[in-house]
Amino acid sequence: MPESIALITPSVSVASAEALAAALAPRLLAQAAHSDVEGGFPTREFGWLREAGLLAAPLPVALGGSGLGETAHTAALLSTLRHIGRGNLAVGRVYEGHVNALQLLQRFGQPAQVARWAQEAAQGHLFGVWNTEAHDGVKLEPLPDGRFRLHGSKTFGSGAGHVTRPLLTAALPDGGWQMLILPADEQVPRYASEFWQPLGMRASASFRIDFAGLEIGTEDLLGQPGDYYRQPWFSGGAIRFAAVQAGGAEAVFDETRRFLQRLGRTNDPYQRQRLGEMSLLIAQAQHWLQAAAGVAARPDAATAAEATVAHANLMRSAIEDICLRVLPLAERCVGARGLLRPEPFERLHRDLTHYLRQPAPDAALADAGRYALEQTSPAYQLWQP
Ligand SMILES: Cc1cc2nc3c(=O)[nH]c(=O)nc-3n(C[C@H](O)[C@H](O)[C@H](O)COP(=O)(O)OP(=O)(O)OC[C@H]3O[C@@H](n4cnc5c(N)ncnc54)[C@H](O)[C@@H]3O)c2cc1C
Repeated sequence: MPESIALITPSVSVASAEALAAALAPRLLAQAAHSDVEGGFPTREFGWLREAGLLAAPLPVALGGSGLGETAHTAALLSTLRHIGRGNLAVGRVYEGHVNALQLLQRFGQPAQVARWAQEAAQGHLFGVWNTEAHDGVKLEPLPDGRFRLHGSKTFGSGAGHVTRPLLTAALPDGGWQMLILPADEQVPRYASEFWQPLGMRASASFRIDFAGLEIGTEDLLGQPGDYYRQPWFSGGAIRFAAVQAGGAEAVFDETRRFLQRLGRTNDPYQRQRLGEMSLLIAQAQHWLQAAAGVAARPDAATAAEATVAHANLMRSAIEDICLRVLPLAERCVGARGLLRPEPFERLHRDLTHYLRQPAPDAALADAGRYALEQTSPAYQLWQP
């Protein structure tokens, strides 16, 4: 069992989960420079999240959580992710994967499986979702005794070596795309840390991971083949990583303002103009988070999957654009001096720039365009079927 696993996690309410994350953000930010190590992992930070009850929070109340993973609480979840992201994007990335896995297992797991995994999460096991792969992706070979042998690798497996319950996707012999949750403390994969020589997000430990030869049972399989890509949850889930990214933009904003206040550079009209532009962008991001939460929490969000996905695609595209505009404004505000360590801008820039590279950005916006072109309803009704 890795050192990061503690045995007790208190449960917290949805509102206090969000407040606890907000309170943790400055601590995470203060620690971020020390955790910014290639191949490292923010172990201390995850100890804080665990102590605060934030690792169990996405579980249902009946299973020791606070229900933060339920769609009705999407606003609180996105805000929690934003706060963790503004503290440290690498922590936010790994926490978002943990939340995603807990949501997927609640949605697609059998009751006995959900109870078992919820107990493990409450004990402190860290979950994650490892789907990305290269040419040698993960395959499941059925064995005569009913078990399965794994072959192949994943890339960008965040939290490698620390996530003890990774949710993997794997190809069945007939091509079906099957989810499974690997007990990685018992069936230990090979972690290739040399894969992770990144621009930023060093502490996310997003290694290449080889699963060849490991074995699982049917109790480790999650849902039916194809469930992982079911909509609106697959594409709609992009609002979670976008919330973390928005937190990164807020950190850049807060630190820029702090820097200018400290230097007494707040009366300059050009700095004011730039802070006005940055305020506009940050407020836009906050509005997008609220709007995305409202759409995701609608009772018809699942049945009106196309509209839900289209709105999520717009939201993630908007947040990416906002972040890409905030960064150069901040650089101009703080100048070359501000880009020297120990100022945080160098790290914030690297981390946010790298974390903005999420799957299929062109396809996401093009799909929102396709959806709009296929509808005839006026714009004010377009995402509210
Ligand atoms: C810090 C970090 C942590 C991550 N952690 C995880 C994790 O824990 N689990 C996980 O599963 N994944 C993880 N990922 C991977 C992530 O989810 C994305 O899959 C990955 O970042 C996308 O990589 P890419 O930008 O190289 O993608 P690409 O798909 O190669 O996109 C790059 C560009 O090419 C374009 N493009 C895409 N397809 C085509 C095409 N066919 N022809 C032409 N252009 C194309 C895209 O629109 C984009 O402009 C992580 C990524 C990062 C950066």
